[in-house]
Amino acid sequence: MRFDIITVLPSLLESPFAHSILQRAQKKGIAEIHVHNLRDYAKNKQKSVDDYPYGGGSGMVMQIEPFAACIEQLQSERAYDEIIYMTPDGVTLNQDIANELSTKGNIIILCGHYKGIDQRIRDIFVTKEISIGDYVLSGGELPAAIVVDAIVRLIPGVLNDETSALSDSFQDGLLDAPIYTRPAEWRGHKVPDILLSGNEAKINAWRDEQQLQRTQERRPDLLND
Ligand code: SAH
Repeated sequence: MRFDIITVLPSLLESPFAHSILQRAQKKGIAEIHVHNLRDYAKNKQKSVDDYPYGGGSGMVMQIEPFAACIEQLQSERAYDEIIYMTPDGVTLNQDIANELSTKGNIIILCGHYKGIDQRIRDIFVTKEISIGDYVLSGGELPAAIVVDAIVRLIPGVLNDETSALSDSFQDGLLDAPIYTRPAEWRGHKVPDILLSGNEAKINAWRDEQQLQRTQERRPDLLND
């Protein structure tokens, strides 16, 4: 799977993809992540990519030409399944969306800044608009990194233990069960006996029950869905 991320701050996206599971996915050749500097596609000498909003008001607006030039360059090289714009007024990211996107081949992600991007970019090029939650950040880079992380860990072969993504919260519509590791007792706080019993069937039943209980307590809305 290939991601092309278009941004004015490429350096902001160096670290998130250079470690752990995302790094491993790239080394294994399962995911390719390319970051493009939007300013490289600006025609003017100053390499500016934003301008004042028509109609007045505060904040700068990112212009259509540099985005169009970069997107069209990429599209001339290969076909894309989705062009995603990260935006607070998009559909809120969830595990279903991550699952669906993990089956795609090539995805472009646009990161906004300032007031956002010219509406015509959204109308003409964008196929999906995703928010990472009901709050406003300064740029789309961290949201883009979150989307890529959520997708890549779902691609078969990325996680060593294939079942581990399947047992995570939301994957089966439930939150995950409580987890413990050594020591079995710390300052009088004990790990539930059942987990030390070695009885796999009983442990699985306990985990199922805990998942349901936790979901009922914390996210009853998931059970209604
Ligand atoms: N004026 C816009 C906010 C612009 S914030 C509005 O009110 O909706 C600048 C950029 O940060 C956006 O273009 C977007 O790419 C990114 N961004 C900010 N908050 C985000 C969120 N919750 N989810 C996804 N992207 C976000």
